[in-house]
Amino acid sequence: MSEANHVSPKSPRETLQEVKEKAPINWGVTAVLGLTFLVAIIIVPWYGFVHGYNAWTWTFFGIFLIMNGMGIGSGYHRLWSHRTYDAHPVLKWILAVSGGMSLQNSIIVWCARHRIHHKDVDNNEKDPYSINRGFWFAHIGWMLRDYKSGEIDYSVVPDLQQDPVAAWQHKWYWTLVVVTNVVVPLLLGWLTGDVLGMFLLAGVARLVISHHFTFFINSLAHMWGKQPYTDENTARDQHFLALITYGEGYHNYHHMFQNDYRCGIRWWHLDMNKWFISTCALFGLVKNRKRAPQFKVLRARLSMEFKAARQKLEQASVSATWKEQFDTEYAQFVETVKQWQQLQMERVQQGRQMLADRFESETASLTSRYRELEISLKMQHKRLALLTAQVI
Ligand SMILES: [Zn+2]
Ligand SMILES: [Zn+2]
Repeated sequence: MSEANHVSPKSPRETLQEVKEKAPINWGVTAVLGLTFLVAIIIVPWYGFVHGYNAWTWTFFGIFLIMNGMGIGSGYHRLWSHRTYDAHPVLKWILAVSGGMSLQNSIIVWCARHRIHHKDVDNNEKDPYSINRGFWFAHIGWMLRDYKSGEIDYSVVPDLQQDPVAAWQHKWYWTLVVVTNVVVPLLLGWLTGDVLGMFLLAGVARLVISHHFTFFINSLAHMWGKQPYTDENTARDQHFLALITYGEGYHNYHHMFQNDYRCGIRWWHLDMNKWFISTCALFGLVKNRKRAPQFKVLRARLSMEFKAARQKLEQASVSATWKEQFDTEYAQFVETVKQWQQLQMERVQQGRQMLADRFESETASLTSRYRELEISLKMQHKRLALLTAQVI
């Protein structure tokens, strides 16, 4: 027996203890996040109470808040981290400036950490903001110290280093931060008659709110909400978080289908980033929006529903007929998935043939067979809901 076999595997508790060992404090980040927070909760209300804020100040506060959120959501996250669509250079510049203004590091650094977050989600040693290290750590703690898990791995962003807009923003990041957060608010304040008011509300308070709303995605969106598509990680879907993050709160869907430009897939889902990207597409600023195949989405949802129904079953007594009906439904689900896999293989086969001679009618028949399978899953979703409703 080799030496290695004698080493017992570390328990999750031991691993957590190890990663928690005090890393050196990052004084720069701590000072900026701490000071801006204190100004926002003490001086901003005091100034409002004593002097009040004029309409211009409130207007720019709102504009900058939305710009920052969308710069991060549509830009940093959906465009650069996940490449869910292609953007015209004009749009890229706008997103790079408005995302950079929100002081969350450069596109390249942000995306490098975010890609690792997806790859090693919930892994305390690798995920830079693993929720398993607690709410505080996932929300903000991970930035206040130089943890090993927060080290930037540039090898995961070679595409972004080649991207001229991302590379420019990385090089000029701090200049961009100072100009947009200090120079612009002061200038606007001077033009509209309240320099300090504009700086405090549209500068500092806006920055702090924008920070914490985004940070909620790493903390709350991994703790609070539903898991309709997967329970293999901690990510959740939550409407309120989606509202304040312009759609990013549909985080369970996003972790399952990260290449989709949408996070909220239903038309009524509060996903402003999705609507913004689609509007830009109308003007030719966006192309190649990627969507997850409908069948895969339905399959994921249904398999979670079967899982939930099974758990419910364990706690309730059901009739033999009910159980039989449930088993039949599940068998049909497995069969539909099998048929879909078969169809996928046929499509690959046909794709090869298509190159040689165009079989357009065949392709049309494939499309209608795909649709049939999707409809079959949708119907099953409804039947399963009715079936589980009978179990109290
Ligand atoms: Zn993501
Ligand atoms: Zn996440």
